Amino acid sequence: MEREKKIEEYDVVIIGGGAGGLTAGIYSGRARLKTLLIEKSLVGGLATYTNEIENYPGFPEGTTGLGLMNLFEKQAKKFGVKFKGTDVKSVDFSGEVKIVETFRNIYKSKVVIVASGGRPRVTGAENEETFLFDKGISFCATCDAASNSGKDVLIIGSGDAAIEEGMFLTKFANKVIVSVIHDEGKMDCNEIAKAEALANPKMEFVWNTVVKRFEGGEHLENVVLENLRTKEEVNIKVPTCFEFIGYLPNTEIFNDKLNMTDKGYVLVNENMETNVSGVYAVGDVTDKFLKQVATAVGDGAIAGYAAEKFIAEEETYKSQILGKDGVVFVYDASEAGCRDCLAEVEKLEKEMQKNHCVTRVDIYKSRGLSDRMEIDEVPRLAIVKGGKIVKILGENFDPEEVKSILA
Ligand SMILES: Cc1cc2nc3c(=O)[nH]c(=O)nc-3n(C[C@H](O)[C@H](O)[C@H](O)COP(=O)(O)OP(=O)(O)OC[C@H]3O[C@@H](n4cnc5c(N)ncnc54)[C@H](O)[C@@H]3O)c2cc1C
Repeated sequence: MEREKKIEEYDVVIIGGGAGGLTAGIYSGRARLKTLLIEKSLVGGLATYTNEIENYPGFPEGTTGLGLMNLFEKQAKKFGVKFKGTDVKSVDFSGEVKIVETFRNIYKSKVVIVASGGRPRVTGAENEETFLFDKGISFCATCDAASNSGKDVLIIGSGDAAIEEGMFLTKFANKVIVSVIHDEGKMDCNEIAKAEALANPKMEFVWNTVVKRFEGGEHLENVVLENLRTKEEVNIKVPTCFEFIGYLPNTEIFNDKLNMTDKGYVLVNENMETNVSGVYAVGDVTDKFLKQVATAVGDGAIAGYAAEKFIAEEETYKSQILGKDGVVFVYDASEAGCRDCLAEVEKLEKEMQKNHCVTRVDIYKSRGLSDRMEIDEVPRLAIVKGGKIVKILGENFDPEEVKSILA
């Protein structure tokens, strides 16, 4: 018999515990929001794969990915963020309360922050599945460098990650062979990394090649490369092949739930808002120009702050806007037309005396409230009755009509 899932309620649920998710947690936790962060594998995310991070501000001597992420985690915990080590299986964003489901639990939340990042792309070559991870195909130089001390290793790819991790591996391995898809001398990494790699006597390049096949017994023994020009096969006898050929976003569970690019990256605006109200996305999972710890941190800060503002506005909307019968005057204090209309509204307010209230919403300060009322032009008068907006009037409103609606 299927076990009934336990239901828990939160202000904010964050899916993914990398740099973006942890930063969002630091902000929302510090804003005293009841925050849950769900991480299916290692807290710290992809940054923990790299031994050296030299470009994160505040660490002039550089730091390790794991060390840096441990500090992020410590800081999030200090602000009361709760952590769960499990996989989010499905989400339902269709209602006002968002649902996040894991194997054992159902989490209900006012806000969800998607911070699920990406995962390494694989080559798709023959037998790749057989040798993944501990059988010889690795995506993590930090994890597998020491066990390759004194041995030859192969790297697939020539981007920044491939070359920087390759350089790191030269400290352990006897030789680091790099399979590059491009013509001799052409690489996808930055020029500094390229110059350093080409000058490193422990690095060797096999140009114009792609992986054709992985071979071995229990463990990887040989990688067959194919020369794209000559079609010749090249055997590279190595116990470990490191693949650094890009990433795929972890967004399968958000298909048909969030707007995404054709490559599956979540689309957000500058406030990290997705197309669903109350759902934000941050870091590598979004369609962004630069995927780095520093940019994921910036996104996380915005989303954590936005979550707090969203929840506060939602509460104001329910209690002050819909909570009592009356008039909501939506205006822009800097517009003359709005100021004239305000005088009319104040006259109406006196006529209605204490029977009905008039709430003022400055669209400039409280965009979230006017958006909830679906008002994008000002001035407007929203008439609220019985917890609902029953009519929206323009600047030439008739005070008698307002009074009769509210009567
Ligand atoms: C080898 C390597 C070297 C790098 N070097 C640098 C560097 O020097 N400097 C730098 O700034 N950046 C570097 N980066 C990039 C940096 O690591 C990423 O930009 C950063 O980690 C992005 O953070 P994120 O929070 O968006 O995503 P991630 O770090 O990818 O975290 C996402 C997390 O979400 C979890 N998750 C996914 N789906 C689910 C689910 N359904 N349920 C629960 N959890 C889920 C994943 O397990 C993962 O832990 C490097 C990356 C790699 C791979």
